[in-house]
Amino acid sequence: MAELRQNLATREWVIIASERARRPNAYAETPNRIRTHERPEHESACPFCPGNEELDLEVCRTPLVGPWATRVVRNKYPALALDGPLTRAFNGVERRITGIGYHEVLVEHPFHNATIALMTDEEVRALLEMSLQRGREIGADPRIEQIVFFKNHGERAGASLPHAHSQIIGLPIVPGDIRHRIEEARRFFDDTGRCVFCAMLEDELTSGERLIAMNDYYVAFMLYASSSPFHIWIMPRQHHASFLHIEPTSLMHLAPLLRDVLFRLYTHLNDPDYNMIIRSTPTKEPENGYFHWYIALVPRLSRSAGFELGSGVWINPSIPEQCAEYLREGS
Ligand SMILES: [Zn+2]
Ligand SMILES: [Zn+2]
Repeated sequence: MAELRQNLATREWVIIASERARRPNAYAETPNRIRTHERPEHESACPFCPGNEELDLEVCRTPLVGPWATRVVRNKYPALALDGPLTRAFNGVERRITGIGYHEVLVEHPFHNATIALMTDEEVRALLEMSLQRGREIGADPRIEQIVFFKNHGERAGASLPHAHSQIIGLPIVPGDIRHRIEEARRFFDDTGRCVFCAMLEDELTSGERLIAMNDYYVAFMLYASSSPFHIWIMPRQHHASFLHIEPTSLMHLAPLLRDVLFRLYTHLNDPDYNMIIRSTPTKEPENGYFHWYIALVPRLSRSAGFELGSGVWINPSIPEQCAEYLREGS
């Protein structure tokens, strides 16, 4: 029989469709797929490949001299404009704010066929450090309330360019989705005196059946109430509400774990499309006891439709414990 499961942190329900569930290996992409590493190392038409850089869009790069390893550029077609005053107009049903904000692209590697799963730990660490650095700089802008770090890998995840990149958007508002998560976490804290994420992490470590990989600082596990197949959270063991407030040295431990988990997806599922999101508190919120930053990894292996849109309830045609076991194998 199918089972409804609730995510303790968001209080959202999912349907784990046990009877329709496919075996984890059935989610692997077809063998004839051209995987990222099989593409050419350089693509003459790619705007992110060395030699094609639009230098006027560049925000920063590492290293400062010699060929670049990572660079941050302003999005050529930004969703929000950098310059201008922030003005609000609230008039009955019409509420608006000028479209001010940041929309930047982090080009993760000079090679056209690179992907985090196959990078070195040092390369992954460098791009995480770049994200943290830009996040802190954008967060210092008083017009900005929320920073969203995300990555679209592959067409089904919404990537328009195949060259490895992630995006940073600084918003002049706190999105409803994030507000909802904060309110639920605050409610749990009020009821129990605990951070709901620390509680989830403790349970996952005790049970062990959904664990994928871990080290002394970070833990990767399949979410109990996964909304889709192979929905993974990577959570720091140390409680911090915001990614922006972490010790930069902690990235030394995040890099190998993130690479390891993405490598498992790459090899076990044949380079699936995925989204990766850093969930963190609004920039102006100080540290608190109830929210806990983490990374969500969402492979795009099943499609959502009207029911999900109409209810907010996802149907997951896989068993999270089986997916975790499958990713633990052969490593
Ligand atoms: Zn390229
Ligand atoms: Zn916590």
